[in-house]
Amino acid sequence: MNYYIELEKDIRFREGLNACLNCGICTAICPAAEFYNYDPRLIITIVQQKNNEKIEELLQSETIWYCGQCMSCKTRCPRGNTPGFVIQALRYLSQKCGFFADSEKGRQQYAIKKTVGENILKTGYCIHPDLVTPDMHPEQGPIWEWVLENRTRVYERFYANLDKQGAGTLRKIHQKNLDELASIFSETGGNELYNDIERFSEKQASNMNLSFTETFDNDYFRHVCTYNSGNHSSE
Ligand code: SF4
Ligand code: SF4
Repeated sequence: MNYYIELEKDIRFREGLNACLNCGICTAICPAAEFYNYDPRLIITIVQQKNNEKIEELLQSETIWYCGQCMSCKTRCPRGNTPGFVIQALRYLSQKCGFFADSEKGRQQYAIKKTVGENILKTGYCIHPDLVTPDMHPEQGPIWEWVLENRTRVYERFYANLDKQGAGTLRKIHQKNLDELASIFSETGGNELYNDIERFSEKQASNMNLSFTETFDNDYFRHVCTYNSGNHSSE
């Protein structure tokens, strides 16, 4: 596969890269470069060289997953490039080819798909309190279980309309709207991408001898959510 040609098929890539003069302004402005071993200028340079081997290394690397998608780079590039868009295209190609499962940060795509990705199809929300279960989300702290047990009373105090018809935060999303959302995912390739992430993650779980199930209650999910090699910081 010629990765550069694949990238060029992506509208985000075509819009994100005109010609880079290697000035480094994107890196200077980038908040992610402040904290991670990360240099958007270098990513653009590698892609621009059209070297298939180097682009493949990028698709397998940690670096394409450090971008926070803030788009600060878009506002400052003297050539009108948007490294953030180029990174979106690289991430998509990495997911389609299965390379994301080779890196620690890339493997976290599975966790995002299993939580935010599936939540939106089930409830219409990226995050819904009922899906943030205390056993899988210890980061919520010790009172979270109490909040869930007393959800009606608690959310009323925040003026939310939890799981009820009508307007307001956390209102119940009508089935017809959920069906519409499902068709958008189906028509735009979202479901296919979800299946790719699932399939490549299952293979990686087997390589790592970790259990993998259809639900997210499995060792691979726990691993990708909690493991930190500590090799990502710029310090
Ligand atoms: S700011 Fe634009 S021209 Fe400068 S290195 Fe970044 S992408 Fe290239
Ligand atoms: S979009 Fe990504 S590369 Fe661009 S400034 Fe934000 S974090 Fe950096």
